[in-house]
Amino acid sequence: MDEPTFRTIFEPFRIHSVEPLRMSTRAERRGYLRDAAFNLFQVRAEHVLVDLLTDSGTGAMSRDQWAAIQHGDESYAGSPSYYIFTDAVRELFPFEHVIPVHQGRAAEKILFSVIGGPGKVVPNNTHFDTTRANVEATGALAIDLPVVEGRDLSSQHPFKGNMDLAALEDLLARRAADVPCVFVTITNNSGGGQPVSLANLRGVRGICDRYGKPLFLDACRFAENAWFIREREEGQAEREVADIVRDMAALADGMTMSAKKDPMGNIGGWLAMNDDDLATACRNTLILTEGFPTYGGLAGRDLEALAQGLTEVVQHDYLRYRIRSTAYLGTALQERGIPVLSPFGGHAVYIDARALARHLDPLEYPGQAVAVALYETGGIRSCEIGTVMFGRQPDGTEAPASMDLVRLAIPRRTYTQSHIDYVIEVCEEVAANADALRGYRIVAEPKTLRHFTSSFEPRP
Ligand SMILES: *Cc1c(COP(=O)(O)O)cnc(C)c1O
Repeated sequence: MDEPTFRTIFEPFRIHSVEPLRMSTRAERRGYLRDAAFNLFQVRAEHVLVDLLTDSGTGAMSRDQWAAIQHGDESYAGSPSYYIFTDAVRELFPFEHVIPVHQGRAAEKILFSVIGGPGKVVPNNTHFDTTRANVEATGALAIDLPVVEGRDLSSQHPFKGNMDLAALEDLLARRAADVPCVFVTITNNSGGGQPVSLANLRGVRGICDRYGKPLFLDACRFAENAWFIREREEGQAEREVADIVRDMAALADGMTMSAKKDPMGNIGGWLAMNDDDLATACRNTLILTEGFPTYGGLAGRDLEALAQGLTEVVQHDYLRYRIRSTAYLGTALQERGIPVLSPFGGHAVYIDARALARHLDPLEYPGQAVAVALYETGGIRSCEIGTVMFGRQPDGTEAPASMDLVRLAIPRRTYTQSHIDYVIEVCEEVAANADALRGYRIVAEPKTLRHFTSSFEPRP
């Protein structure tokens, strides 16, 4: 009752070791942009002031994670670090089998090479791009079944990441024999980091049970998802996040994980499941491509850092700070009239570049124009998620993506509130001059995943 409340977001850590950031001028950044052919993936990281390209593997490890690194045991087989790692995973996700891998896409590759194949169909609330690519690489079909609110930019639904249960039921009624498993991504990354409710997961579980199908979680941002459940779902407000995570796990038969997200690692991942035969088949594939099952492409020290990271990410002080600081950026942009997607997700704020640069046609890449301007104006690196990323069709032609967004992804525990205040100022400056932004055209592009390596030039 007499607990005072303050507006400032308290970062629940202090700085122990610093990485210098070298200031650059606008003229220098113009040169770096030309050298990179206006592709921000090609800019050297030391030429970036605030790097919001991704939250994947870019977070700061804690003192205790660095200490855990020293504890790493590099035995080829049966390292104690493996047991410390599996115990930490199973504390939250009590699956029978835990298989370490070097990052999330390796878990996907192994799982889908075992259960996918031509004629198979894998439903997901929304596939992440590597998940979709790994399903499709086996000849299977990847189907997205988000709730309608998830596709509606203006919807304020608290769980826009949910799966469309009627659509899932309909798919299984028609094609159950072709579906090897059902996937739910928590939080829904491609949908803007939007959470999935426990009620929705229970609904998916019920449908899976009726058709005898396993349910897998793509659980990269499980802790952020659990925090949203605690804040938004009926009856969850007083609960421990770790207990909510265990509830989510109990509804599933297995999971894939990129430990570069919520497990606070710079590298790593895992695949977990209850089914013994599936685990044997996956471990056999793992040995071919990743390594022996007790290290799976990671060093013992990585496994130890992840085990410690898993204890830190479910702490309420951390999650309160994490979700509030993402919302702080989103709210500030909104208050300055900059169009952003809302409600804000856990790990990123998305600027609606098509709305900000209305004079540009989607095929002039408004997202690219805004992202380049943020870099040129203030050295901020963001990521276009729009027509550059998704516009190229399989036949080589081009079509507008459904949205042209610029994602500002927030690395975990890395930037302070004053860095974010600077980002807000730079966004304001770019928005004030948005009418004058020039579009871009692609002068060279590969056949797939063109956003990483394409060369651009500004339109006249
Ligand atoms: C990052 C991510 C992956 C892939 O993980 P990597 O570690 O980058 O290979 C899969 N699914 C989701 C939802 C992700 O965010």
